[in-house]
Amino acid sequence: MKREDGVGIWATRKDVESFFTQFKCRRCGKCCEGEEAPDGIFLLKTDLVNLSEYLGISVHKFKEIYTFIGNKGERFLPYPCPFYSKEGHSCTIYYYRPAVCKMYPLTMNIGLRDKLILSELCPISYSIAEAYRLITL
Ligand code: SF4
Ligand code: SF4
Repeated sequence: MKREDGVGIWATRKDVESFFTQFKCRRCGKCCEGEEAPDGIFLLKTDLVNLSEYLGISVHKFKEIYTFIGNKGERFLPYPCPFYSKEGHSCTIYYYRPAVCKMYPLTMNIGLRDKLILSELCPISYSIAEAYRLITL
């Protein structure tokens, strides 16, 4: 298995829904602190709007204070995430966290229909892959 590939699985929407009812986050903080992660935390436009509103600042200001720009003009939160509380082992914007955080440890692989990647960084990825016996290396 290549580190950058994570654990590749084929999964249906129903599978995905059941992942989150069966497997609970262990609050290790790896995904928020960015341990070994090469990129930032991808933000959709809706994430930018929701988070700016929640924090009571403009989208422009939010971008300026919290984000950086990717190669294709996309916006990311940097690692370690500015909204992670190391002391509390928790996300301080939990209900407004970005879509990628809600999906994690599942990540989309654009272009591969129904193909999802379970991040190798997250300890629960292996439990999910083992339970579903869906590993494709
Ligand atoms: S890496 Fe996985 S287990 Fe650890 S905090 Fe993130 S989602 Fe939870
Ligand atoms: S927004 Fe919350 S869940 Fe997402 S990386 Fe930051 S602290 Fe973690």
